[in-house]
Amino acid sequence: MKTKAIKIGNHLIGGEDFSIIAGPCSIESDEQFYSIAQFVKKQGAHFLRGGVFKLRTHPKSFQGLGWKAFPFAREISNQVGLPLISEVTDPRQIEPMMSLVDAFQVGSRNMFNYALLKELGKTKKPVILKRAFSARVEEWLSASEYLVGEGNADVILCERGIRSFETTTRNTFDLNTIAFLKRHSNFPIVADPSHATGISVLVEPMALAAIAAGADALMVEVHPFPSQALSDSNQALDFDQFKSLMKKARKILYALGRRLSEDEINRPVRAIEDFR
Ligand code: PEP
Ligand code: MN
Repeated sequence: MKTKAIKIGNHLIGGEDFSIIAGPCSIESDEQFYSIAQFVKKQGAHFLRGGVFKLRTHPKSFQGLGWKAFPFAREISNQVGLPLISEVTDPRQIEPMMSLVDAFQVGSRNMFNYALLKELGKTKKPVILKRAFSARVEEWLSASEYLVGEGNADVILCERGIRSFETTTRNTFDLNTIAFLKRHSNFPIVADPSHATGISVLVEPMALAAIAAGADALMVEVHPFPSQALSDSNQALDFDQFKSLMKKARKILYALGRRLSEDEINRPVRAIEDFR
């Protein structure tokens, strides 16, 4: 099924081209976010991610910088020219976040939060709906209906791994579902090998596998000094690892007759309408 193209900020996700969403798990400081934003932009990323409100398993873990991160995060996003994606964890955050982010992310822990989904459904801002680690595909697609039912059809699905009996990796990356959804849904599908594996050296091979399975985009966590990251340090790619991933992603896409969406040299310019 042809994937719908959805506009996030100044860029399309889905449709024919492949996109990269990159950034830290958590925004930790303006220096950290700026250095990552600049680097991933230079390497060809299309969207900037960064958590401000973190839903951590333990209440004593770093909970994110909260509201104070947004003024500089927004400025960095504008300056670097990458649309900003950040997680919303509470319906009360929606209104003030409307002018601060280009797309909302709903995290795995909130996929079943129907009150949050209904409120997001009343907005016109794209929503990246991550799969709950315990959700069947049917439940995930039902959750998307809460958004669509309220009037927001700009839904992007994100496979981020599910919990299984296997504990060697943080989660089990359900590549089956990526291939399945490409045939049974027209929402763009993002693959998140960072949370799916939880181990930085496994991110690249699983990202490449997700491209081959048909994903429309990758979401990866990047940090200049992964061991110092305040959240998800084991899975963050350092700059060299991200550069290597981008190089190999281009090769796999080329082999599949696809390309990264900015690699448009010599391609006739298409109107946004052409993607719909
Ligand atoms: C994240 O993207 O940093 C995150 C918390 O992901 P998930 O909701 O998939 O655990
Ligand atoms: Mn994370």
